[in-house]
Amino acid sequence: MTRKVRTRIAPSPTGFLHLGTARTALFSWAYARHHGGDFILRVEDTDEARSTQEAVDQIIAAMKWLNLDYDEGPFFQMQRIERYREVIGQMLVAGSAYPCYCTPAELDAMREAQRARGDKPRYDGRWRPESGKALPVVPDGVKPVIRFRNPVDGVVTWDDMVKGPITISNGELDDLIIARPGADAATLIGTPTYNFCVVVDDWDMQISHVIRGDDHVNNTPRQINILHALGAELPVYGHVPMILGPDGDKLSKRHGAVSVTQYEDAGYLPEAMLNYLARLGWSHGDDELFSREQLVSWFDGHHLAKSPAQWDVAKLNWVNGHYLKALPDASLAVQVSDRFAARGITVPVDDHLARLCALFKDRCATTVELAEWLAMYFLDVEPRDEDLSAHVTDAVKPAVQSLRERLVDIEWSKPAISAAIKEVITAHGIKMPQLAHAVRVLVCGRAQTPSIDAVLELFHREVVIGRLQIE
Ligand code: GLU
Repeated sequence: MTRKVRTRIAPSPTGFLHLGTARTALFSWAYARHHGGDFILRVEDTDEARSTQEAVDQIIAAMKWLNLDYDEGPFFQMQRIERYREVIGQMLVAGSAYPCYCTPAELDAMREAQRARGDKPRYDGRWRPESGKALPVVPDGVKPVIRFRNPVDGVVTWDDMVKGPITISNGELDDLIIARPGADAATLIGTPTYNFCVVVDDWDMQISHVIRGDDHVNNTPRQINILHALGAELPVYGHVPMILGPDGDKLSKRHGAVSVTQYEDAGYLPEAMLNYLARLGWSHGDDELFSREQLVSWFDGHHLAKSPAQWDVAKLNWVNGHYLKALPDASLAVQVSDRFAARGITVPVDDHLARLCALFKDRCATTVELAEWLAMYFLDVEPRDEDLSAHVTDAVKPAVQSLRERLVDIEWSKPAISAAIKEVITAHGIKMPQLAHAVRVLVCGRAQTPSIDAVLELFHREVVIGRLQIE
């Protein structure tokens, strides 16, 4: 029988959900969904000094926003410490782990001597039990760390889902510390270390596929050796290359926003984010735009790229613009109203707002941009001096005045406004763009907008009349 597909995302809550982690979560989620398996959220919070509840909350909120639903969890490693200690206890009995009483000073001296000889610094195995070997005398007052008894010979090989076969010689790996010293004499086993907790969790949670960033490739042979020592079934590993910034360096804060929450706040849509993230390191032919359902039906673990993907804001904006335009105007109105609310401005979700969204959405990549455009309908505008002097010239002012007078008592509709504008330009012998630009600057606070009659129709008449008042 083949194993049930169970994947996980294991973020460390030391910061917000990074785009790279979100992408790994997406791949793990899509792979599980494709196979009708389970997706698990595990919070790796053993770095107590740097882990925060705020980060946990943000990670969970970002997963929810992206609609990456998990079947189990969140599990917290700090709540599983006793389980890790229990496994270490069993390993000590079985001989696959051992206490090491080297002091930090001794370890320093060991490394120093190795360097002096031109050797690679590594633990020399002085506390490693071997048959026929006499171990040093346990020193007074030193609390031991626990080390994993790594095989000395042979190699570790796995067939990586992304990178293909990888082989590491055991000679490269020294005996990993799996637990720090206990806090007191009664506690032999202190805090278990990161690489160990991951192994026990993947084992206990019956993870079948570990998809993660390739910054973890070096941990994998160690984790595989421990899993072997525990008699555990190995997961399949897939190491996805890092996401790079536009300059080719690993994507970081230096390149701009790197947390999912920042993109949510900047007016990106979750479906667009998901679509864009999926294409960073995975492809399905030339398809750039696809639904969640298509992603799930296509994501079979193949076509994962070996080379790193580059973050491309222009492409993200293009994808987001596509999703934004595809949304029903009534839904877009809800999103835009939320954007105003975030700025402390109450804008009711109604047919008027939906019509505004329909008129302006073509020129926007994000809902924040759309709300910026629509602000002219809900807030006062302040035309810039250079726009006023360029467009509201003495030659055009009389025409503006005439238009203002006509708008007072026409039917308030796009055709009637259009007819009034045409009559005024004919009467004043000026060109359409001259009047349209002046009206835009005065009413909208900017010289470029969609068709002016359509734009004006959606204002209250009194607002237009008031803004066209020039002394
Ligand atoms: N907590 C690790 C990280 O945030 C993930 C480890 C793993 O996926 O095995 O990078």
